[in-house]
Amino acid sequence: MEQDIDGEARAARRDAAVRAAVEQGLLGPEAPLAGLLDVVGIRESAAALRAAFDAVVAPGTPVLHAFAVKAAPLVPVLRLLAGEGLGAEVASPGELALARAAGVPPERTVLDSPAKTPQELREALALGIAVNADNPQELDRIDGLMRSAEATGSAEATGSAEATGSAGTTGSAGSRSPLGIRVNPQVGGGSIEALSTATATSKFGVALRDDGAREWVVRAFLDRPWLTRLHTHTGSQGIPLSLMAEGVAAAYALAEEINERAGRRQVDTLDIGGGLPVNFASDETAPTYAAYARQLRAAVPGLFDGRYGLVTEFGRSLLAKHGTVVARVEYAKSAGGRPVAVTHAGVQVATRTVYAPGAWPLRIAAYDAGGRPKGGPDVVQDVAGPACFAGDLLAVGRALPLLEQGDYAAALDTGAYYFAHHYAYNSLARPGVYGFAPDGEGGVAFAVVREPQPVEAIVAEAGGAHADALTSGLTPRAARPSRG
Ligand SMILES: *Cc1c(COP(=O)(O)O)cnc(C)c1O
Repeated sequence: MEQDIDGEARAARRDAAVRAAVEQGLLGPEAPLAGLLDVVGIRESAAALRAAFDAVVAPGTPVLHAFAVKAAPLVPVLRLLAGEGLGAEVASPGELALARAAGVPPERTVLDSPAKTPQELREALALGIAVNADNPQELDRIDGLMRSAEATGSAEATGSAEATGSAGTTGSAGSRSPLGIRVNPQVGGGSIEALSTATATSKFGVALRDDGAREWVVRAFLDRPWLTRLHTHTGSQGIPLSLMAEGVAAAYALAEEINERAGRRQVDTLDIGGGLPVNFASDETAPTYAAYARQLRAAVPGLFDGRYGLVTEFGRSLLAKHGTVVARVEYAKSAGGRPVAVTHAGVQVATRTVYAPGAWPLRIAAYDAGGRPKGGPDVVQDVAGPACFAGDLLAVGRALPLLEQGDYAAALDTGAYYFAHHYAYNSLARPGVYGFAPDGEGGVAFAVVREPQPVEAIVAEAGGAHADALTSGLTPRAARPSRG
């Protein structure tokens, strides 16, 4: 029961961190909301991911675990993960900039944006970042860039594959970038429609079972010796492991077909995406990376025999259980006979939970004003956020020790896709984010990951520098004083 012991240790670290955050003033009357990140836990998950795949691949297989930046777009987190041997999967110019700011090298970065602009593609190819083309139009653009890179023979496009640690590509004449095509195996969806990327009509990748699509992909490879990768990501939370494995199996079968028809090992790397679901119901880590890796090996043994390099793109499963958003109870009231704790955590930090509570329930832990776990009998109550709409509720009718004014409510397992993804409703400030670890003397040390957003920054982002734009900035030309 190794996992349960991990979960208990994680819960104990979390309790100690909440208490220390209150004692050290990171949380209090003037700092009523904070995000806490468990650095020990993040390192453990990164190590578990590496170990899980090391255990199933043939010795010497190149494996790149590219963290899906969208799950926790915070530069210090990306650097922490890079130090643990992970790379970055980016899906926008902003995410690429974050990965670069964190020092993730191009050969450990993968670009998957669904709507890459010509400039985005040009930059990626110049840097040598791996790119997965989403569709035929994007492949056309890459064709053009490859032709011009070959024609100019520019310094950055020497075709030298000195990249270290990248997943086994030889590069190509026009760019160092390993290039591939994203396919949608159309194996079906999971319990959360919005996160199901492999449905028949998903917007992602080339829909492999559509008429003529498979043949188009094979021809695309045969016509372009520089295409060396296939990418698939079967989706996220709510997808059963068996369906994820089916998606990977479909990409593997396609790689085998391409290589057979090419008469050489043209596809040398499979990017199998991320999507391991997270258990939001308890402190147990389930499923584990080890279980998924074993299931994959059972379903697609050929993928692990050393002929293919691997790229993975896990996000949620690396961070979710290591983040906690802690909010002070500003007021405790009662309405219609139900207690309501009005806290500072609502839609701005738990957007999905507030708008889709059925799909994204969160555990709430109660702490007293000193940051100690709260005891006492469970009372059915609502935990509300600070935003001005009735539905801004973190939890409805939840049985918890009664939250009172000055207490803290903690939303657990929020390290991925929650407090790092601020939603600016009501101009609520982005909370500070703090990483924590043992201080070596029995206490807890904190490091600032992201400063709390000051109101001046909110004004600046809301056009504060252009206050007159609409009252005098649009004066018709004729009415303007003429310039000398
Ligand atoms: C979102 C995404 C991921 C990460 O998904 P998780 O569920 O967070 O593991 C990986 N790859 C792609 C292409 C994605 O869009």
